[in-house]
This record gives sequence, C-alpha cells and structure tokens, in this order.
Amino acid sequence: MVEPHATAPTLTATAAEPHSVSVLLPLALDVAYDYRVPEGIEVAPGAIVEVPLGQRQVIGVVWGTAEGGIAPARLKDIAAVRAVPRLPASLRALIDWVADYTLASRGAVLRMALSVPDALEPPAPRLGYVLGATPPSKLTPSRARVLAALNDKPAMSAVDLAREASVGVAVVKSLAKSGALIEGPLQRPKPPPAPDPDHPGPTLSPDQIEASNDLVTKVREGGFSVTLLDGVTGSGKTEVYFEAIAAALRAGKQALVLVPEIALTPQWRERFRARFGAAPAEWHSELGSKIRRETWRGVAAGDIAVVVGARSALFLPFPRLGLIVVDEEHESAFKQEDGVIYQARDMAVVRARLAAAPIVLSSATPSLETLANVEAGRYRRLDLPERHGEAELPTIAAIDMRREAPPRGAWLAPPLRQALSETFAAGEQALLFLNRRGYAPLTLCRACGHRMNCPNCTSWLVEHRFAARLSCHHCGFATALPETCPSCGALGRLAACGPGVERLAEEVATLFPEARLALATSDSIATPAEAAALIERIQSRDVDVLIGTQIVAKGHHFPLLTLVGVVDADLGLAGGDLRAAERTFQLLQQVAGRAGRADRRGRVLLQTYMPEHPVMAALISGERDRFLAEEAAQRRAHNLPPFGRLAALIVSARTERDAAETARTLARIARRELGANSSIEVLGPAPAPLALLRGRHRQRLLVKAPKDARLQPPLRRWLAAMKRKAGVAIQVDVDPYSFL
Ligand code: ADP
Ligand code: ZN
Repeated sequence: MVEPHATAPTLTATAAEPHSVSVLLPLALDVAYDYRVPEGIEVAPGAIVEVPLGQRQVIGVVWGTAEGGIAPARLKDIAAVRAVPRLPASLRALIDWVADYTLASRGAVLRMALSVPDALEPPAPRLGYVLGATPPSKLTPSRARVLAALNDKPAMSAVDLAREASVGVAVVKSLAKSGALIEGPLQRPKPPPAPDPDHPGPTLSPDQIEASNDLVTKVREGGFSVTLLDGVTGSGKTEVYFEAIAAALRAGKQALVLVPEIALTPQWRERFRARFGAAPAEWHSELGSKIRRETWRGVAAGDIAVVVGARSALFLPFPRLGLIVVDEEHESAFKQEDGVIYQARDMAVVRARLAAAPIVLSSATPSLETLANVEAGRYRRLDLPERHGEAELPTIAAIDMRREAPPRGAWLAPPLRQALSETFAAGEQALLFLNRRGYAPLTLCRACGHRMNCPNCTSWLVEHRFAARLSCHHCGFATALPETCPSCGALGRLAACGPGVERLAEEVATLFPEARLALATSDSIATPAEAAALIERIQSRDVDVLIGTQIVAKGHHFPLLTLVGVVDADLGLAGGDLRAAERTFQLLQQVAGRAGRADRRGRVLLQTYMPEHPVMAALISGERDRFLAEEAAQRRAHNLPPFGRLAALIVSARTERDAAETARTLARIARRELGANSSIEVLGPAPAPLALLRGRHRQRLLVKAPKDARLQPPLRRWLAAMKRKAGVAIQVDVDPYSFL
C-alpha cells in the first residue's frame, strides 16, 4: 500500500510555467536535474521516479520545484513514477543537511538512502495454485491428496501444497499442466509479529523508573530533545530506554536504535524479545538483499516499528519516527571513514531534530562532545549511578610492569597469572583483553634488522599464525611467511615481535593446559551468527577464558565472568591522536565493565608501564568525572574539539610528488584567502602517518577554527579553486576522528 505523506504538497504547474521538477539522482552529483512532468502524471517531493540520463534510464527522487536555467522545451520527461512510498521530508532534509555539512555530494548521500534498489521495484505479484474447473483424467491417491488439501482454501504455493499433501512437487505441477489446478494470487505472507509494548518486562528499580518516566514523557510529548542517559556499566540503561521505545510504540510511532557493532546485537536482540515478545527488525551490511528489501519496504510503509542497526540505518525512510536511541554513543565506530565521511551519532541528532523527535544517547563513558553539550545546556542528562540488583562495580588495580615483569618471551605478569589460576579454581571465567589481532604485530630479521612491511602501505605486516600468513590490516595484502629474509637472505632468522591475541592464547594454553579458551576477534567472529554461537558457549560455561580484542569490550553480560586482565593498557595511548586518552579510558572502562556483572564481585587488572598516567589513575580510583574535566580543560585551552572545530583534508595520489604538490597548492590557496588575521588556521601539509595507503601516497592538512566559525564555506571555495590533476584525490573529513 502506498501511503501519501500528509505534508507533501503536489507540485503543480501554474499557467505561465510548464510543469517541471528537480530530480536528485543517487550518483556522485551535487545538483538535482530538472525534468518535465508529463501530462497525467502527478508527483510530489520525495516521489521515486525513473528518468532518462544520457542513453540510460535511472532512478531518482523528486527533490523540489525545478531549479530553472534550462529552456523548458529542452527538458526531458519523467518516464515513470514508482508505486512505492515517497521518501519522507525529514529524510530528504537530512540528506541535504549531511551533504552540506560533510561536503559530500547530495547524490552520494542519497545513494545511502537508496542502498537497496530492489526495494524500489513494485513488489512482484506472487502466484500459487487454486482448484481449476477440469478434474484430472486420472486420479491417483497422491493427486487426490493434493486436491483434498486445496479444498476450499486460498491459493498455496507448489512447495507448500506438496508438503501439505505429502507428495512431490512434480505431482502438483502435473495437475497444473492438466488444468486441474490453476494459478491464483497468493495472500501476502503474514508479517512477523510486532513488538508489543505491553508484553510483561522486568520490574524496574526506583532509579530506573525515574529515568524511564522522564524519557517516556519526552516521547509522549514529542518534539525534539536530546537526553544523555549516563549510567555505569550494568545499571540497566537498556531496560530504561526500552520503556521509551514502548512509549513510541504506544503512540503509533517508529523507533530507531543505532548500535556501534553488529556483534552486539544477538544478546541485545534476546533482551528486546524478552521485553517486547518479538524481535526488532535489523539493519546492517551483513544482511542479505532479500531481507534488506523487505525491511526497507516495511519501514517505508510504516509496518516495521522498531529497527536496530548500524550507522547506515540512519538513512532508512521512517515516515513516523518517534524516537532515536544511540547506544554506546561514545563509540568511534559511529564515524564512517570512507565514502561519505560522517559521524552517525551527530547526524542522528540532526535527524531527530528534523523529524521533531526525541533522541537518547546512552553510555557509561560519554564522549567529551556530548558532555560539552550537556554543560552548555543543549542536551539533558539522566543518571543511573548504580549497578542493578546485587551487582557491584569491579575493583580495578594496576600491575606495574616495570616491577612485575613477565618472564622473557611471555606477556602475562605473575599477579595476572595468579589471578587467572584463582579464577579457574573458583569455577569462574576470565577475559584477557588485548586490542591486537593476529599473532605478532611485527616480524623482524634477526640477522639484518629488516622489518616485514606492506608493499602498499606504511605499515608492518601482522603475522596470523592460524592462517599461516602475514597480512596488512590496512589494505588486506597477504603473503606466506617466507623462510628466508627478503632483504639479506638469511635462513630461519625471521622472528615474531610483540604479542597479538593468538600469541597470548598460546601462552595461556601453555600455562593452563586444562583451561578451555576461546578467541574473539574480527577474524574469528565475522557474523552475528558466529557472535551468537560464542556467546552461547560462554553462557553455558564451555569457556574458561576468553581472549579478545575490542569486539568483546561492549554490551555483553556474562554472569560468571569475574576477572578481566588488560594485557597492554598503554596500547592506545601511543601516537598523537587528540582523543587517545579519552578513548583509552572509554575502552578500558567498557572492558572493565564486563567483570562481575552478577552476584560475584569482579576484579580488573591493568598491565601498564605507567600506573601514574591520568587514565590509569582515573580507572583505578573511579574518578571518571575528574578525569573528563581535566581532559576537557586541556582541550579547551588548545581550542580543540569539542571546544573548537577541525577539518582534515587528505590529498592522495599515485606519486609522492603529485600528492605533495597538490597539498602545497591547496594550503597556499587557503592561506592566501584567509590572510593574516583569520581565526581559521591551516596546519600542514605533512605526509600522513600512513603516508602510503593501498598504494597511494598521502598528505594531510588540518584546518582549525573556533567553535563559532563555519568551516564549510571556505573549504568549498578552496576546493573549487583547485585545478585537479588526473588521479589526484582530495578527501574532506569534517570533525575527524582518525588522524592517520
Ligand atoms: P547497561 O546497559 O547499563 O550496562 P544493562 O541494561 O545491560 O546495563 O543491564 C545489565 C544487566 O542487568 C542485564 O543483564 C539486565 O538484564 C539486568 N537488569 C537491568 N535492569 C534490570 C531489572 N530492572 N530487572 C532485571 N534485570 C535487570
Ligand atoms: Zn597494506
């Protein structure tokens, strides 16, 4: 059913003007082209149409009134209007907004909203069989069963009919051929059960009730608001925002939940089902095209009420959006780093505003961006200061690696080994966290010092021992581990340096041969099904020790997990990333939050060479807010985000010279325009830390401005003034999170 959106006016011709409209195409184009609306066709903004483009016929979306500038007689006609719901106004406004903010072309942003071309086809009528007028000439027992199965029934598919009558499909087909069965339209398959807001859920604690009532009120009132749901790990933030979703459902509205990792969804999905009696629709890139098509259509038609998804779910065509939740809002996974470069959390706030809906940002370790908005009074804040039920927060302590060094060639210090054996003896589970995939991050020749580097990138090749390969984590290049050094030819002198999770697993297996261990990295857990299987193994006590990267840090709840060992707490602090300390704190706090989530108290041990570092000190003392305040003060002092603005310009080319020349020209244009007194500063160009990536040489410029400056207009002018050499690309990253 195509439901017209109440607010969309029909664009009609006036007497003077011929009737034409602008149509945005999902191609890398910023402009919308004008097309004529032929007689007898009516279109409104958001209508999905077919239009001619050169020799081709392409899909586009009616964006507004014609831009003009082309003689009406020369305009081409819209070829057809698709019988699918129009893109809602709030989504179209979001597309314009995102394009304007990120400097991506509007067409490229539209393409994210039309990512399932199939969904725009009219649904094919599905046919099955009903009884025909001619009885079959020969009535075998199996034929008789088929006819009996259909008696007085609506059409059934050949497969269903064969199953019902316990015959082969061939029997059905031969009856159809003889005319005893004829084709008839199948009834639409029953939609999956909808989430029920009145399904009995858990009883909330007084703190939880207070927070959820507040959110429920916001959802009922409608209108735009942003609320930070700030609660320690295990405080029940999920249960609280479920009540906001229930309120949206009761009001007949749709709700969108954005999560940072698809690996989070299996457990989340179960909890959702427990609360609402039915599963939510899911949206992420791993899903097949059929399910994506059904979901896109269901959302557009308003039949699907709740979607949980990765950042791309933000561009689904919700006509009645009544609530957005961003879970783990501080996660950098919300930043899309290629194609259209955008921060999905921030754009979710924009979509909520455009849809006049409340949005909830949930986290135990909110980002400084969000906290700054709370301080400025733009966002509201709700606190959940305690873990639910009997659970207490874990104790966190440092292991000073300068004093308690592990044995040579090993990575676990004596106190952590001791803690592991105590945990196993108590029949409890442990998590060892090391944010490094593979066996070893570096392979070095002991004879000549040669390092095994990626030929396409400025990076070391990481040994993956299980796969027996050296591979590049940036471009995917992989090669077998050679026997001789490619530089000096020495035989058998290549040595693994440093630990990855695979190497750690080896150490644990040697130390605790009885312990059942599981690895969790993006190599071993690539799909939601694999994640679900692992979670099942942990919950059913088939695992004593889980060794994993950041994919185990989030969301999961394992009642028996009482020990968390962070193998290299300092890992994220290296490098010049402005958010290094904030991110390390968030990540380690999240990992620590996996310990002792039920009735047994958990403990966390951080292996570090700098226990006095503010990040370690804050984790140990639990003084989160003091740490964040100090971090914020430093950023403010340097006009860095969230107290100032940044944009990165990344120039890449096949040769080092092209990249460097283009970057210098760009810097010159920018500096000349800004002059001496501008509050906007241009830093660089300089070779990027990843100076070579996928075979392209890269240079970076950083543009820095006060919070109240708008960076987009000057960026646009500089880029417009650039003459581009073939093969040279300039990427714009507004609000950069990666400085590689
Ligand atoms: P957070 O998201 O704040 O880390 P969760 O929402 O994951 O916390 O809750 C932590 C655990 O406590 C979950 O297993 C959840 O089911 C449980 N829990 C939270 N609130 C309640 C409640 N009111 N009744 C029963 N269980 C709850
Ligand atoms: Zn590479």
